Amino acid sequence: MTVQARRDLLAASLDEVHQRIGRACAAAGRDPGSVALVAVTKTYPASDVVLLAGLGVTDVGENKDQEAAAKSAAVRAQDVEVRWHFVGQLQRNKAKSVVTYADVVESVDSTRLAGALSTAAARLRERPLDVLVQVSIDGDPARGGAIAGAAEADRDLWRVAAAVNDAEGLRLGGVMAVAPLDWEPERAFADLAALTARLRSEYPGATAVSAGMSGDLEQAVRHGATHVRIGTSLLGMRNTLR
Ligand SMILES: *Cc1c(COP(=O)(O)O)cnc(C)c1O
Repeated sequence: MTVQARRDLLAASLDEVHQRIGRACAAAGRDPGSVALVAVTKTYPASDVVLLAGLGVTDVGENKDQEAAAKSAAVRAQDVEVRWHFVGQLQRNKAKSVVTYADVVESVDSTRLAGALSTAAARLRERPLDVLVQVSIDGDPARGGAIAGAAEADRDLWRVAAAVNDAEGLRLGGVMAVAPLDWEPERAFADLAALTARLRSEYPGATAVSAGMSGDLEQAVRHGATHVRIGTSLLGMRNTLR
């Protein structure tokens, strides 16, 4: 595919995604400017990030450290600036790498990970790192996300939020969640909204709600998402499973 053809394709799908967000906001009586788009570019090349930035996309999401480090460097080398959101499972030993290129880490789900990011951010960054606490909506400890009332203190949602809020080098921005596969998104995002309201009453600055992907952005917007993370609907089907 030529660069021009790829650009046209991305422009068309971006337009469609903006229309979906606009319709969802209208249906929910919300201002369309209150929902930010994060383009999830995992498995797609740096050239797509550059094209998306040229089309007005300001925020990009990645879920693997190695891929994100290389891609963000390649994009920056072309003098293109976007905000990088890390949205994947993160090992503590990758904290030092992630804080060097990420603007936001959306997937903090343990006090230990918060600690590792805090140490790295305080040492390696000039500005604080924005952090969202990833919430497990169904409370399944086998998957990612902090859990309200977790058996394991390290994974307890309220403790993780407090740890981020108190940590040097980090700023608690809000929450991120993925609707569990076997749940109605409607119910998942309603539960998330209840948890978010409780979190905000304690931390008024934690206003971000990153929820909604290609398949369920409408339900997420209806329940208050401030960020939607869109991969497939923008860039096409990924051929690797992740
Ligand atoms: C891949 C991914 C997305 C994007 O999913 P799509 O269904 O392709 O829109 C959003 N959030 C996270 C955490 C992801 O890993």
